Amino acid sequence: MNKRDVVIIGGSLAGAACARELERQGIDAIAFERDYFPRRKVCGGFLSPGAIECIKSLGLLDDVRRAGAVEVTSARVRIGNSRMNVPFERPGLGISRWALDEIFARTARVEQGHSVDEVTRSKDGFVVDGISCTAVVDASGKLGRFTRRRGVPEFGIQYVEPQSQGAVLEFSFFDDGYGGSVSVEGGRSNSCFLIKKDALQKYTTRPDCLVTGPLAYNRLPGEFIAIGDAAGMLDPACGDGMRHALETGRLAALVIAAGLRRRAPYDEMKSEYESEWHRRWWLKRAFGARMRKLLERPALFSAAVQIAPARLINRLWK
Ligand SMILES: Cc1cc2nc3c(=O)[nH]c(=O)nc-3n(C[C@H](O)[C@H](O)[C@H](O)COP(=O)(O)OP(=O)(O)OC[C@H]3O[C@@H](n4cnc5c(N)ncnc54)[C@H](O)[C@@H]3O)c2cc1C
Repeated sequence: MNKRDVVIIGGSLAGAACARELERQGIDAIAFERDYFPRRKVCGGFLSPGAIECIKSLGLLDDVRRAGAVEVTSARVRIGNSRMNVPFERPGLGISRWALDEIFARTARVEQGHSVDEVTRSKDGFVVDGISCTAVVDASGKLGRFTRRRGVPEFGIQYVEPQSQGAVLEFSFFDDGYGGSVSVEGGRSNSCFLIKKDALQKYTTRPDCLVTGPLAYNRLPGEFIAIGDAAGMLDPACGDGMRHALETGRLAALVIAAGLRRRAPYDEMKSEYESEWHRRWWLKRAFGARMRKLLERPALFSAAVQIAPARLINRLWK
């Protein structure tokens, strides 16, 4: 078939969630994904309570639990010499992206091994690698080339440890960055850190260490409806990036489905989606930006976190 209602560039969490919701809305959509699943990906592997709710509303929570996701009920946060225990009001889940993304790609219309090269505007919409469609969604992540963004001198690294650490998420802030470990399926744990560029070499000596970057938080104005990290990355310390990917994937699908039904122009759907995205996410994005600024003054940051860490973290996930 060389005509679709919607083509999605990228079939990881945001793209697959969007494809799945569009299919549920009766829209003919496909996500093209350059990689084959399962595949490793730099990510902490922690699903916040809000991400779990999204997975549930997409009808995939049983699959995620069956894949061996581990319940996480508290965090142990370390800043310099201080340590804090932060009980969660609602538990999260630990699962690797190896397992999670495979579930999403298997249960949505995702064509793997297809790297999108070219998107052009046409009279009726767009042409994506020779396929015409009415709407295009950019779900190609923080390094995708269809949306321009501002990079920062920070990288993400990830590796797997052979033992579980139970129901506790370990998280620490240190001079070169921050991050931590969480138990995942198979009795192992996933370790993931954000590291400043100048210090990166010190942390990449393990042969199994996966690196991504430079990271980019802010998207510049673009032509396409952008979801997940393509719309702008949340700070990893918020622990809500996957929720953002899933929620924006669903939101875009609902806006597009309604728009296609009333034959709305693409730019109208795009601006409707963008104002709703902004309304739902500006506060958390602003919080992440403020936190990054505060991290430049470690003493102040440490004092701020120690005042109300549990309340802060639990409020952040509401
Ligand atoms: C260090 C670090 C730790 C993190 N830890 C957590 C955490 O613990 N919890 C959490 O909730 N979030 C975390 N995040 C955030 C989370 O990983 C991201 O927000 C999430 O992966 C975004 O999903 P996405 O689908 O938007 O993008 P991605 O997962 O990046 O997917 C984009 C997909 O698009 C594909 N693609 C790109 N270009 C093309 C193309 N031209 N054609 C076809 N396909 C293409 C790619 O192959 C990729 O599969 C972390 C992020 C970092 C950097």
